Amino acid sequence: MKNIIIKQRSDTPHWVGDGFPVRSIFTYNDLAKDISPFLLMDYASPVEFPPTDKRKGVGSHPHRGFETVTIVYEGEIEHRDSAGGGGTIGKGGVQWMTAASGLVHEEFHGKNYAKTGGPFEMVQLWVNLPIKDKMGAPRYQGINNEQIPLVNLKNDIGSVRVIAGDFEGTKGPAMTFSPINLWDIRLKAKSTYTFNVPSGHTATVFVLSGDLKFENGDTLHEAEIGVLEPVGDTFTIEATTNSKILFLGGAPLNEPFIGYGPFVMASKEELHQAFADFNSGKMGVIGKIEGTET
Ligand code: MN
Repeated sequence: MKNIIIKQRSDTPHWVGDGFPVRSIFTYNDLAKDISPFLLMDYASPVEFPPTDKRKGVGSHPHRGFETVTIVYEGEIEHRDSAGGGGTIGKGGVQWMTAASGLVHEEFHGKNYAKTGGPFEMVQLWVNLPIKDKMGAPRYQGINNEQIPLVNLKNDIGSVRVIAGDFEGTKGPAMTFSPINLWDIRLKAKSTYTFNVPSGHTATVFVLSGDLKFENGDTLHEAEIGVLEPVGDTFTIEATTNSKILFLGGAPLNEPFIGYGPFVMASKEELHQAFADFNSGKMGVIGKIEGTET
């Protein structure tokens, strides 16, 4: 039975552009080695945006060496990138963007959402790529709410939406480069559930809202992340209040990585190369087709 070995929270929000008031729950500089292949989590906790005609968000910026995964709990997000990927994702949807060899992208509130305003809540994860895939082709997966299977837990105690991987035989739609389980879990107050996870995978629990108690009595609360001990293949949580939980699991990559700003590579030399390639325009321009000179 797995219990928590590391707990972390952040109470200092910062703005990403003018659209995303986020707290960095963990980054490639702290817990990422214990949560492999996950590198970073930004959490925009529930906030209300007023109606506007302005585009709110973050303009053109590069990434290389990993994937950005944006889970929209409330609101709407619009994405465009220099590899031709793009789309708008609403409540319950996920954008799974593989930067790989590099691209520039922009992330804004969706036009319809901006017009009406309303509640906004999202998580952005950065997922590392195996070294052999870091310089592969970029890819964009827009996954709508309807494409994500919902598993109701027995006795009506809650549900699991399978974004990636497998939950009790139900498969998630996201294609990944290494084995990952990403589950959007809801548990009703005063309910307990035992989750089975692959032995040898990392296992991490993030609480968006609610209160959890683990087998050994340890607790986890709103905006806290708990890394579970590596040994074992089950963990049991009791939701003491209605809880919204994100489970992150995966086969650890066990490869060196180093991040700086928007790039995560295997060495300092590769990071320098990433900056050089971005500065010389090799990661493209949004709205132009790769390989054409204008
Ligand atoms: Mn980005």
